[in-house]
Amino acid sequence: MANHIEGRVLRRGDYRYESLRRDACWHAGVPDRYPEVIVLANNEDDVVGAVKLAGEEDLQIAVRSGGHSWSGSHLRDGTVLIDLSNLRHVTVDKEAMTGTAQPGIKGSELNSMLAEKDLFFPTGHCTGVSIGGYLLQGGFAWAGRDYGPACMSVTAIDAVTSDGERIHADETRNADLLWAARGAGPGFFAVVTRFHVKLYPRKRITMNSGYFWPASAARDVYGFVHEIGRQTPTEINLMCNRDPMTNDEPLISLNATAFTDTEEEAREQLSVFESCPAHAHVLTTRLNEVTDTATLSRLGTDPHYDETKHYLADNMWTHAAFDDLWPNFEAMLKTWPPAPSHMVLYNWGGHEGQPERPPMAFSVEDELYYGLYAAWSDPADDRKYTDWVTNHMRAWEPYASGIQLADENLVNRPYRFVSDENLRRLDDLRATWDPHGLFVSWLGGPKPGADAAGVSGMRRKRTVDP
Ligand SMILES: Cc1cc2nc3c(=O)[nH]c(=O)nc-3n(C[C@H](O)[C@H](O)[C@H](O)COP(=O)(O)OP(=O)(O)OC[C@H]3O[C@@H](n4cnc5c(N)ncnc54)[C@H](O)[C@@H]3O)c2cc1C
Repeated sequence: MANHIEGRVLRRGDYRYESLRRDACWHAGVPDRYPEVIVLANNEDDVVGAVKLAGEEDLQIAVRSGGHSWSGSHLRDGTVLIDLSNLRHVTVDKEAMTGTAQPGIKGSELNSMLAEKDLFFPTGHCTGVSIGGYLLQGGFAWAGRDYGPACMSVTAIDAVTSDGERIHADETRNADLLWAARGAGPGFFAVVTRFHVKLYPRKRITMNSGYFWPASAARDVYGFVHEIGRQTPTEINLMCNRDPMTNDEPLISLNATAFTDTEEEAREQLSVFESCPAHAHVLTTRLNEVTDTATLSRLGTDPHYDETKHYLADNMWTHAAFDDLWPNFEAMLKTWPPAPSHMVLYNWGGHEGQPERPPMAFSVEDELYYGLYAAWSDPADDRKYTDWVTNHMRAWEPYASGIQLADENLVNRPYRFVSDENLRRLDDLRATWDPHGLFVSWLGGPKPGADAAGVSGMRRKRTVDP
């Protein structure tokens, strides 16, 4: 019954229900899906109460930590929405290099707490994202190439199961639930109330260089990043978006960030970008600036995410040759949506020294990551930009090895986000942990039998061995 719950319990039609529902989604494109009840949990007992309430009222359960799911996956009809944004407690044990964090804390907040103690955790590139949804779906982080998907650094979880039991899952107790929590994302079938994590020493130097080109240089710049992306230890963020620097035509910007212990090492790493074949056409540069991830988020990434706009995201992992991607990209450049719509290309995997992956649900990744994000103001444009993003990502499917749940567009384009084997195991575990199907699962879901799709015909990009 709702009287077990200390936090707010709002039902459809209640005063403030609609503002809480809208606030649960970070951008203006709030989906037309209506939970029956929203529980704003104050503590872990409230989560137990909310799970029991769902069982009593024959409703399903959806969970929200920070509401940064692009598709608003947590907003579902016929559910109790358990909102964990007030569960924000963090502990740090510097000696043991471990910590705990509740799901409502934002990655940026966690990292600034850790920075004061010279520690680091691989949190996401934007300021607002909470760790709940971020860690469950994988976690594509600052310096992520050095640490792997952030869920690899989760050593245990505290969770509330579908029968309202509070449990702990680690490598020895309830190990299958920990396995699932590392990558199931919105398909997870329990409520995580606390993550136990490994912490790392903070590298002394974060150094960033930026290069900016007109779209006419796109083919050379993207070809270069496809060539060197795997070899360089530096994190590369190649972005395309309309910008005043190019009179609102698409601009290509390369942001390279080195995480090192000495300035010399960082400068050495960043010098590789001087050899980009498009160097002669560069509009402007910012070279070798010593900075930190909070500043990089604030000045570099955050301005592309405006909560007053409607957004749609989609993405792919690939190791394709850029020549194969170029025809679709060339077509996109001619019809690029208004700012702050953008596309990012990150180098990610396949490099020397990449950390070994533990057994975990997260199982699809590749050398390069493309994320495509359309942003618009007028709801009348919903179809136009949904089609623009979805159709352009669909055109790249022959070159994709899968997608990342971080930027999923499963409603419009179901695609492979875990291996078929892991998908089967997740389904089996769901049947065990949530036998009555209380928890909602992926919105739209994976493409069945998708292991066979895409990758087989992909022409590998040429590689330059170090
Ligand atoms: C502006 C922006 C920037 C982003 N940048 C990055 C980035 O740099 N790297 C990256 O990897 N991702 C990034 N993302 C994607 C983001 O990590 C995912 O959307 C993630 O799900 C957001 O976490 P959240 O807690 O805010 O999600 P929510 O929207 O609250 O949750 C998403 C889903 O996760 C599940 N869930 C959340 N919390 C829990 C819990 N405690 N227990 C059980 N299930 C839960 C629910 O099924 C829910 O539907 C970004 C998204 C946005 C909008």
